[in-house]
Amino acid sequence: MSFQNTLAYAQEQDHADPLRYFKEHFHIPQHNGKDTVYLCGNSLGLQPKSARAALEEEMTKWAELGVEGHFKGDNPWFTYHKPLSELSAALVGAKPEEVVIMNQLTVNLHLMLVSFYRPEGKRFKILTEAGAFPSDQYALETQAKFHGYHPDEAILEIAPREGESTWRTEDILAAIAEHKDELALVMLSGVHYYTGQVFDMAAITQAAHAAGVPCGFDLAHAAGNVPMQLHDWDVDFAVWCTYKYLNSGPGGTSGVFVHERHAQNNDLPRFAGWWGHDQAQRFQMKKGFIPMAGAEGWQVSNGQILPMAVHKASLQIFADAGIEKLRAKSEKLTGYLEFLIKELNQPKELLEIITPADPAARGCQLSLLVNQNGRQLFDTLMANGFILDWREPNVIRVAPTPLYNTFEDVYRFGQFLTAHFQK
Ligand SMILES: *Cc1c(COP(=O)(O)O)cnc(C)c1O
Repeated sequence: MSFQNTLAYAQEQDHADPLRYFKEHFHIPQHNGKDTVYLCGNSLGLQPKSARAALEEEMTKWAELGVEGHFKGDNPWFTYHKPLSELSAALVGAKPEEVVIMNQLTVNLHLMLVSFYRPEGKRFKILTEAGAFPSDQYALETQAKFHGYHPDEAILEIAPREGESTWRTEDILAAIAEHKDELALVMLSGVHYYTGQVFDMAAITQAAHAAGVPCGFDLAHAAGNVPMQLHDWDVDFAVWCTYKYLNSGPGGTSGVFVHERHAQNNDLPRFAGWWGHDQAQRFQMKKGFIPMAGAEGWQVSNGQILPMAVHKASLQIFADAGIEKLRAKSEKLTGYLEFLIKELNQPKELLEIITPADPAARGCQLSLLVNQNGRQLFDTLMANGFILDWREPNVIRVAPTPLYNTFEDVYRFGQFLTAHFQK
């Protein structure tokens, strides 16, 4: 691709972008009366304008129907989650019955670990990436303890090679093969939050299965960012939050994938609740848990209608745009950002991109390592209407998202950096 570092070029790209109108569907935060350049969808996605009406609809239903809203009106609450499964399944490459929307991410991760981390004898270890998001680290650590193991013994962390920032797939696969007789689970991120690296989920799952171990992924930074084929890749389970790329509001609900292979497996241990119980008998209030088939059988509590209403509005936008088209734009937009950073780095490297250069090994985010005065640069950007995010000790994460970011946004970001470093 031949990019150009000019405003005219950026505007031309925006003009030719078939998805350009989707920006209109979002509220853009303001800075001094103007739109910010919001490059932080990896942390908290923007509010779809349709979210308020979706929420309002359920508030009205609650006001007018009270408890009868569970079974009356459009989209009764009893089955409210079902259309969300269908919309979400398209994003992660699953069958609708393999997906359920419920709870929040870390809670769901624990529920999945209860079912899929089943240490026995010599096989008690979990293989994961070093430097995973802290919530995932704490979940694995406390699950290991829950089963009576010391986390240092039970958790096997794979790090990038000395002097490298990202993982080589071959190293992950080799580690799985090497530790095959000790492993009980392989569990990694789909997209690493710090580096933005996309892990080769298909290859990792295949290697785990060759070692006779289940394999799961945390898709917090993958869902709505990169297309996936969880079903075909044969992944056992996955979890994701919906407030990052999926634009479903702070603390929003979460998604769970359980492969169809496990749909009817009532022998899997679970932490159950009434909402996972056979729907036909749920209100008979009888003893003895009978799980629903599929991912719904992992539900615990009754559905959180208000967060799900917002999520549904957002998922509708993804359905309208199409994840493959979004991905095509995303690769170009992030490629443009990379091009501008490389120009900035002539003749001297000012910002090191630690995200993989291969578009297939990254989503929309580029992580920029700043060697000097990083925090100061970040604060200056924020004070000037560029919304990004800072990760200790020295990384600025920049995430142009294809739904509401433009080539002009990326161009302006590049211009600001150039001016900053020329001072
Ligand atoms: C954002 C994120 C979380 C946050 O967990 P919550 O339960 O939603 O608070 C956890 N893990 C990863 C990998 C994340 O990126």
